[in-house]
Amino acid sequence: MIDKLNWSEAIFFFDVDDTLIDTTSNSIIASEGITNVLKQEYGEKKSILIKDRFNQLFQTLMQEHMATGKNNMKQYDLIIQRINKLQEPVVKKFGAIKKWSREVILKIAAENCDISLKPELIYSAIDAYWNSISEKSVPMEGVLNLFQEIKIHNRPVYLITSSDARLQLNNQGLFEYDPKHSEKFKKKRMETLKVKGLFFNKVSIGDPEDKPHLDFFKKGIEIAEIDLGYKINTKNIIMFGDSYSGDLQTPREKLGFGLVVLFKKGQEQSIEESQRYISTGNVSSVKEYLI
Ligand SMILES: [Mg+2]
Repeated sequence: MIDKLNWSEAIFFFDVDDTLIDTTSNSIIASEGITNVLKQEYGEKKSILIKDRFNQLFQTLMQEHMATGKNNMKQYDLIIQRINKLQEPVVKKFGAIKKWSREVILKIAAENCDISLKPELIYSAIDAYWNSISEKSVPMEGVLNLFQEIKIHNRPVYLITSSDARLQLNNQGLFEYDPKHSEKFKKKRMETLKVKGLFFNKVSIGDPEDKPHLDFFKKGIEIAEIDLGYKINTKNIIMFGDSYSGDLQTPREKLGFGLVVLFKKGQEQSIEESQRYISTGNVSSVKEYLI
């Protein structure tokens, strides 16, 4: 049995990528943007090779993230090792790698094809990639329906989203991380959601603390409290995400969120997984738990 929440007190926290919009399934189409930028310097054939390698690397990282069971752990470990090396300055300063930095994945992809990409080319190729993702992504099942209902009840919405980790190369060919620089890019990308019929009060971005770190979620709560002008009882927060360990475990187990909703693309029925935890293939089914 899941305890119901009151519409009149409900506060909505959403992960964005693969919860509100289908970022990952557009990654392959968006990678055409990488080819278009690189081919001016390296020709079509080589650029396609690099782009294909970029997609393979991203896929391997994503399979581990989604815990699909099809993981190639050896490949995965090798990629993570290389990311660690390339992000040495980031690890030194911030304690961990930024795993999803597309700049780093592209650099590794090119290295695997025996090409050392100029920093400027990496930046413009990844810009083209993210712009294309923003353009092409459509809202996931039930998202627009739920947002309509949220609007009717006049309740607040916060986007609690990972960093895009827009890293920059230094003179030693290693990546550096400036949280402000990275955050600026993601904020801009979030604005494009508004043309897709979504709305939100504020955005909280994982620069520098990211999921599933407790501070990442505390930052989100703080931003919401400042926006609302009162102290939030976390029992009133509903958090949506596409990864239990990344998006939902900390809010549910450490912060006492009222309900966490795991979005699983394609899942036909909503399942009550455990206390204050459901999974669904249609986020609007959460309406059943609101009175
Ligand atoms: Mg996500």
